[in-house]
Amino acid sequence: MHWQRFENGTRCVPYNWSDNMKAGMIGLGAMGAGMAGNLAKAGYLTAVYNRTAATAQSLAEDLNVTACVTPQALAAEVDVVLICVSADQDVLDVVNAVAATIKPGSVVVDMSTVSSETARKAAAILAEKQAAFLDAPVSGGVEGANKGTLAMMIGGDADALEKVRPVLAAMASRIMHMGPTGAGQNTKAVNQIMAAGINQAVTEALAFGQAQGLPMEQVIEVISGGAAGNWFLQHRGPTMTSGTFAPGFKLALHHKDLKICQAMARQIGASTTTINMTLADYEQLMAAGFGDEDISALYRLKNKS
Ligand code: NAP
Repeated sequence: MHWQRFENGTRCVPYNWSDNMKAGMIGLGAMGAGMAGNLAKAGYLTAVYNRTAATAQSLAEDLNVTACVTPQALAAEVDVVLICVSADQDVLDVVNAVAATIKPGSVVVDMSTVSSETARKAAAILAEKQAAFLDAPVSGGVEGANKGTLAMMIGGDADALEKVRPVLAAMASRIMHMGPTGAGQNTKAVNQIMAAGINQAVTEALAFGQAQGLPMEQVIEVISGGAAGNWFLQHRGPTMTSGTFAPGFKLALHHKDLKICQAMARQIGASTTTINMTLADYEQLMAAGFGDEDISALYRLKNKS
């Protein structure tokens, strides 16, 4: 919060300069579309870009913002560039494009889940243009992206974070600075291993319940209120037990994350039991053509009925 002095005597009024910040969103997929909606609602969003242009065009019309034809055009227009694309090379391609036109003093915030190495490469590319980079992966699913209640784990310069915090607060209810560049992605890797374990536990337990012929709606409701209750059970339990696996979070994307986790775990000598088991299961499902389904499609392997 900054203070603006007016000429009418000594009176000051609080002035938040970030209110004037223009934000642009790159990547309007399952997560990015909801994020863009909340940025628009908060008054920050002025431009969007999506690789498939029709998606950007239609969302831009809904949100009354500009649809840019390239990431370069978007970066030239805004002060804060927000990115949510699929994987490591996608982030680097977008960052290289953005770096061509970005204004010095801008901040680029990447909310994709990628490796901390990619985050450091992106930060170095942008540092040459006097622009800051924050790795800011999120958790909370498509539901969290739509509601603006994501948990955001951030690596990078603390001052850059404070500069854009009000913009990020339009998308996230929990924003935590984890340390230098890459620390956000390293924290997200912890989350992704945990998500794999939860997926294993929930799909196996619900398939066990279904095999007993239990009333699954009531099973999910009562267990959700106890010590084993969790987000995944509540949000994906009802759909998986009725045989629908629309994303949500694409299984192939979680596979990409767990490959990153596996490499990190090997490097630091940490356990890989859950990671390895889930990777093998996902690879079986991807080979069968289920990579674009939600991660709860793991239920397909657990449910023998
Ligand atoms: P998604 O629905 O598959 O959307 C991916 C988006 O990235 C699309 O807009 C796609 O454009 C764009 N994209 C991919 N490669 C690109 C490239 N090279 N250049 C420009 N744009 C590119 O995926 P999502 O679920 O939104 O996930 C996005 C990121 O958030 C991933 O890193 C994922 O791991 C992470 N994440 C997802 C969830 C979740 O629950 N879904 C939760 C937390 C974090 P097109 O439209 O042209 O394909």
